[in-house]
Amino acid sequence: MYCSGCGRPESECDGACLRPLDIPRFCSECARKLDVQVTPQGYEATCRTHGEPAPKRL
Ligand SMILES: [Zn+2]
Ligand SMILES: [Zn+2]
Repeated sequence: MYCSGCGRPESECDGACLRPLDIPRFCSECARKLDVQVTPQGYEATCRTHGEPAPKRL
């Protein structure tokens, strides 16, 4: 698993790069950059490789 804030392996990141309200920028499964769309309800972060939206964290 990778950090969704910086794309590094989770073992190398203590999570300080992503605050609770920040939008994730990297897929936690493959570390690719996510396509992020901000919506009135929040946001959708989608991985182009996995195709499915990443879990929303608001
Ligand atoms: Zn990180
Ligand atoms: Zn992915």
